[in-house]
Parts: sequence; structure tokens; C-alpha cells
Amino acid sequence: MTDFKDEDYWRSIILYGLNQATYKIALGKTLVSLSEKNINHVPWDTLSLEFLEQYKKRLNVEEPMPQQANPSRRTFMERAVRKLDLGTTDIDETIFNVGKEGFNDVIRRFHNIAKFSDFQGKFYTYDFGKSITLTDNLHNVVEQHNKDISAELDSRWALLEGAFTIKSDNYELANDILDTYALKGERRKDLTPNIPFLQGYQGNSCFYCAEKIEEGDCHVDHVLPKKVLQHNQIWNLVLAHSYCNMSKSDKVVGNHFMEKLIQRNENIMGSNHPWKHKISSDLGRTKKLRASNLLTHYENVKVVLGKNYWFGTSSYNPQNDDFYKKLITRLNN
Ligand SMILES: [Zn+2]
Repeated sequence: MTDFKDEDYWRSIILYGLNQATYKIALGKTLVSLSEKNINHVPWDTLSLEFLEQYKKRLNVEEPMPQQANPSRRTFMERAVRKLDLGTTDIDETIFNVGKEGFNDVIRRFHNIAKFSDFQGKFYTYDFGKSITLTDNLHNVVEQHNKDISAELDSRWALLEGAFTIKSDNYELANDILDTYALKGERRKDLTPNIPFLQGYQGNSCFYCAEKIEEGDCHVDHVLPKKVLQHNQIWNLVLAHSYCNMSKSDKVVGNHFMEKLIQRNENIMGSNHPWKHKISSDLGRTKKLRASNLLTHYENVKVVLGKNYWFGTSSYNPQNDDFYKKLITRLNN
């Protein structure tokens, strides 16, 4: 326990545990934002306003996502933002109400993590209803890891919303899956060094639309979203246009892309490239095992993200895809 750093405590608060709503993530973002403004002593109104701002950013989009596990009910913050939009309350009244009811019990409970001893006061202390005081631990973590922790907060928030949209009987399972991947998660890193290797097995065409990739438009994409798998293992990486990459985003790809990915990986396995050992150690030693493990990851992603499929850009036609042409030729031989 003693060799945990402050940023490890921060991550364990944000990334682990079964969350029934998004309050903890919103408070995390609020704390980061206040620390960026170099505020130590935060009056309750300032805290409420900042917390409200986080939800406004999150909810003022075309299709806002549910903020708690029961998607048929709305949280206090969802209702507050909605009323403000409709003009049925003004900002002062909203800030007052957020301060009174909006935090639920997150101010008291933020520091509690299952299986860890309680470390109240690590990132802030509070005088409930009056103020909170940010600690140097918080300022240091924000100063040194701002980019990472901000990205983690955003992806965790999106993950929870994704989990809340799926059927409630899958909810705990989805959270377990996320936690399992999070425990083995890798940091964000530059994936461009993988491009030459991937080109060797994919040619210069986009994995999703099979059109040629122009120089400078080549992106390394995680076929199964990184926000679920949390790793950069080579079997899940492909090259894509920025347009296709963005259009696919974090959606679940259709089945045919899984077949293509399995086949692409088997092509690497059939080569002498030393990286085939990475695939073998990540997915399994036999072709059958690799396919089955890959499809298990696919099923996990579907549980977490729901069956919001993406079948490719509309112009895509497998018959014009060199990859499929070669594959069919091979199967016919
Ligand atoms: Zn493309």
C-alpha cells in the first residue's frame, strides 16, 4: 500500500468501482478545473457552478446520454440542466439548488474506494454546505498528469453513459468487464511507429473502406474500441483514413470486420515477422484459440457499448476490396 503515489489513488477513485451514476466523474472534472484556476479555498456557490458547468457541457448535445443506471429515471443534474435550458429557472436559483441537492452524497463519498482504506482529505477537505479546500496532492496530480487524467475522466464518463444505456440486467456484467480491462490498461501512446508493419499486411488501403490511403492521412485505429479494451495490442490495430476512423468512432463494428481482422492476424501468423509472437501470446497459440479469444473480446465490447453497430462507410463494397478478393481466391484453392 505504501508505494502508491497520489496519481494512483486518483486513478483508483476515478477508474474502479461500480458507479451507479456519473457524479463522481463530474466531481473529478470539477476538481481538475478548479485546480487549473489555482483556487484553494472554494466557496460552495463556486463549487456548485463549476459542477453545473460540467453537466451542461455533457448534456447540451444533440442526443444526451443517461447519467445513471436506471435510464428511465433522470438525475437531479439532468433535470437542473433541462430546466435551465427551458428557462423555467434562472442561473442563481439553479446554483442554489445544485449546492443544496445536486451533489447527492458525492462530496462525502468521493474518497471511498472498496478494498482500500479510507483516505478522506487526500484531495480536498470540506465544510459541508459552506466550502471545500483543495490540497497540494490534488494540485500536484493535476499539474503533472493533467492530459492523462483529463482523458481518463472523459473516457470513464462516456463508458458509464454507454453502460447505462444497456439493459439493466447486463449493467453489473458490463462494469465487471470494464474493470477487468482497466486493471490491465495501457497508457495512451504514439501508435504511428506501427504503420510500416501494418502496411506490410494491409497494403496501402483503408481497413474499413478498402480505398487507397493518401500520404499523411494514415491513422492507426483500434478495431475494438480502446475505450473498452484499454490496450494497444497489435492484433486489434489497423490502418484507416481519418474520415473512416472518425465515422466509425467508438461504435461496434459489424461481424464482417471481425472476419477480416481474424484473417489479417492469421496472415501475420503465417509470416516470419517477429511480432507474430505478440499475437500468439495475447490471443493464443492455435488458430482456433485466437479466433475464439478475439470473438470473446468482441462479445465483451457488445455488452459494454450495446449493439450500436457500424457496418462501414456507405460506399463500401467488399467485392472491390482487394483483401476480400485475395481471401476468396485463397478459400477457392
Ligand atoms: Zn477508409
